Parts: sequence; C-alpha cells; structure tokens
Amino acid sequence: MGLTCPNCGNEKSFLAKTLQMHVVQAGGEELELSEQTPPAMLELLCDDCDTELDFATLDADQRREMLLLVGAG
Ligand SMILES: [Zn+2]
Repeated sequence: MGLTCPNCGNEKSFLAKTLQMHVVQAGGEELELSEQTPPAMLELLCDDCDTELDFATLDADQRREMLLLVGAG
C-alpha cells in the first residue's frame, strides 16, 4: 500500500497504535461490557526505527485501508 518511513526508508513493517474505549457497567453482580467504540488510530510508527509517520499525510485510500485493517473503519 505504499508506506515509507521518512527516516530509515522501511517500507514493510509499521506499528499502528489504536485507542479503544469501553463502557463497563458495574451495577450488577458482575462487571459487564455494555458498549464498545471502534478503535481510533492513535499513532503510526515505523517498526524499525520508531519514527512517527504523519497519518494525515497518507492519501485517502491509504488512510481508509489502514483504518479498516485495524478495525476502525
Ligand atoms: Zn524507520
């Protein structure tokens, strides 16, 4: 899908960090998960050198593909 690390040139392996929120209900006897929001993309890092790639600079197709991949689409 054409990602390239601007620092080391890695084109193969990236680390996508996502943030997911859960709503936990604690009223009953057991804790219950009542709601789960889709994960939001938090950071996209090069897996080799940890340089952060600016998610906003990806084109629309790349962003959509990445979000689908991590379950945030
Ligand atoms: Zn890199």
